[in-house]
Amino acid sequence: MARSIRHWTRVLALMLVAPVIAAAQSFETIAPDLHLLRGAFVPGQQPDGNSVMLLGPRGWIVVDTGRHAGHTQAILRHAAESGLSISDIVNTHWHLDHVSGNALVRRAYPRAEVHASRAIVDAMNGFLANYRRQLADMAAGHPDSPELPNWLAEMARIDQGALLHPTIPIIENGRRRLSGRDLDIHLTTAAATDGDVWVYDSASRTLIAGDLVTLPVPFLDTACPAGWRKALDALDDAPFMRLVPGHGAVMDRKDFRRYRIAFGHLVDCAGRSRSDAAECSERWVRDLGSLLSPDEQKQALDLLGYYVDQRLRGAASTADCRTR
Ligand SMILES: [Zn+2]
Repeated sequence: MARSIRHWTRVLALMLVAPVIAAAQSFETIAPDLHLLRGAFVPGQQPDGNSVMLLGPRGWIVVDTGRHAGHTQAILRHAAESGLSISDIVNTHWHLDHVSGNALVRRAYPRAEVHASRAIVDAMNGFLANYRRQLADMAAGHPDSPELPNWLAEMARIDQGALLHPTIPIIENGRRRLSGRDLDIHLTTAAATDGDVWVYDSASRTLIAGDLVTLPVPFLDTACPAGWRKALDALDDAPFMRLVPGHGAVMDRKDFRRYRIAFGHLVDCAGRSRSDAAECSERWVRDLGSLLSPDEQKQALDLLGYYVDQRLRGAASTADCRTR
């Protein structure tokens, strides 16, 4: 999730009042040779995305490397404890909570290849450059702010520059053999970002969705809602039995179907001028039902209040829908 400063401040405020989802930083085995490290929310900080480690005959494949060093160090520890190296990184998209750990992993495993969309190159010159300028202005204007270390850390992540870029770009759908394990790689160019990769592991029938699926809400800051909706239809066509979202717990097909239907209702509701944001947000919460805890329901209502008006309506709803 990458955010504008304005929205970040809002999310931070939410997190400070929300109960802490502790940074356990321990892996759970969700299928043989397939381990999940849940991204954590820490008070006063931005979140980490989920990371998945798949074991192949020649070492580990890491899907998304997290934002904070603690998250990435847990990945490095997991590899070290197994006695096997990390051969490949796959990034589902360029948001900082999914790519920032690339530099640390590559320092530890210099031969590791990075498979990702090239969209990060444009983002470094566009969205992320703009975000960095905003952070620098905030840091200069508020040197006594308790948030200063977080702003500086975000700037340092962006300053890792090309270390976060792919070494083997993903430019189309296809099968890749990584570490001796076959993975189906899919690329979509106008959904949650302008370069979303999702991975299907047929051996375990696991779909790793990145931020095409996130709880408590879809993070719409850089999204093309119409393209995203189509991408969810494509996910539904894959024969998966479990789906790992970019944020939140593992889903089965029934959970995902609920998410996909809720997403469609959300976009349709926002498209009707007579519906107000609260009505659309409440529908989302109702549609997801038990997939959201009571605390997540409150967060969802607050976040969607912003997204419906600011990202799902008017010019903003198509601003990021150009395809490359
Ligand atoms: Zn994310």
